[in-house]
Amino acid sequence: MIYLDNSATTRPWRSVLDTYIKVSESYFGNPSSLHPLGGEADKLLDQSRAQTASLLGVNKKDIIFTSGATEANNLAVKGAAEARKHQGSHIITTSVEHPSVLEAAAALEQKGWEVTRLSPDKNGEISPEQVEEALRMDTVLVSCMHVNNETGSILPVEKIGECLKKHPKVLFHVDYVQGIGKVPLSMTESRIDLLTISGHKFHCVKGTGVLAVRRGRLEPLFHGGTQENRLRAGTENTAGAAALAKAMRLLLDGSREAAGRMRSLNLLLEEKLSEWKGVEINSPKNRAPHILNFSVAGIKPETVVQALAQKEIYISTTSACSSKQGSGSRVLQAMPLPKERSETALRISLSEETTREDIDAFLLAWEEIYETTARKGKQYEI
Ligand code: PLP
Repeated sequence: MIYLDNSATTRPWRSVLDTYIKVSESYFGNPSSLHPLGGEADKLLDQSRAQTASLLGVNKKDIIFTSGATEANNLAVKGAAEARKHQGSHIITTSVEHPSVLEAAAALEQKGWEVTRLSPDKNGEISPEQVEEALRMDTVLVSCMHVNNETGSILPVEKIGECLKKHPKVLFHVDYVQGIGKVPLSMTESRIDLLTISGHKFHCVKGTGVLAVRRGRLEPLFHGGTQENRLRAGTENTAGAAALAKAMRLLLDGSREAAGRMRSLNLLLEEKLSEWKGVEINSPKNRAPHILNFSVAGIKPETVVQALAQKEIYISTTSACSSKQGSGSRVLQAMPLPKERSETALRISLSEETTREDIDAFLLAWEEIYETTARKGKQYEI
């Protein structure tokens, strides 16, 4: 099997699964229980929190473990807006965010908040000047992703943070889900108040994520116990937290070399795919090392995905969340690229484990599929 859909999810690392199983078996106590089993689980949770915090460059108390990035993004956007409703009712985000930010903002809009959605340029980038221009006296939050999950575009969140230094009342949230381990970002050196990551995007188990809350009061999404600094009620996922801390350490330990390897493979893919008639690269030159998005005029992307899958090679059309909606890529349309290009887009996403052999096998399969698909006349109706 050749797995090239790592932006959708990654294969968990064996040692991370071992940690998850060991903690589930040996530290199954409820961290809130007063007896020693609870105490041990609590200590382990605390250790995982400290490790995660030190890897992100924040304090232990800033780490809120969540079920993943969708929950963390909702907590950041809705939680910050609700906690600041007496200060203002304006939010700034971008039109290329993940649905967990866009839909959270849309839900607030329904309740009376005003939302400005900044549009990217043809490289998928948003400039700090756009953010500056959109700021108002009643702006309470700016939410912007770091690396786009469909194109790999890198948004200048450090510079946006710089420009927000003049606006201390505005909270700044960054969705770092696709950037972690691929494109370095220092929370210590940047003015970022809230940061989201998701474990299953870096070889951890699903159902694990973090919202790092460096500054600013948030309203919790749901009510119950006092866990996670009163921001996330419910019995903690001790095994998930330990596995996440481990996966993150392994990821960041090898990230420099892995990013270099992924970049070379990504450039090779770009070079080889560009040789084919009708192929247009949608990702910008300055992109994250693991994502390459391209369109193929005249060939249905679903046909390519299915034909590759028959050879046990897995890529995707757009993002995993929107690929079943079949309306073309919302992100590419926002850039804006022509509709037909957004409807014929394919995404290859690499991981720390992708090898040159994987890419060579993909290119060989691609050649065969391109030729038979084009010859059979399976033309895309535009
Ligand atoms: N943000 C980005 C940029 C993503 O790519 C994803 C997943 O595709 C998410 C958020 C949501 O992550 P999760 O599956 O952990 O809810």
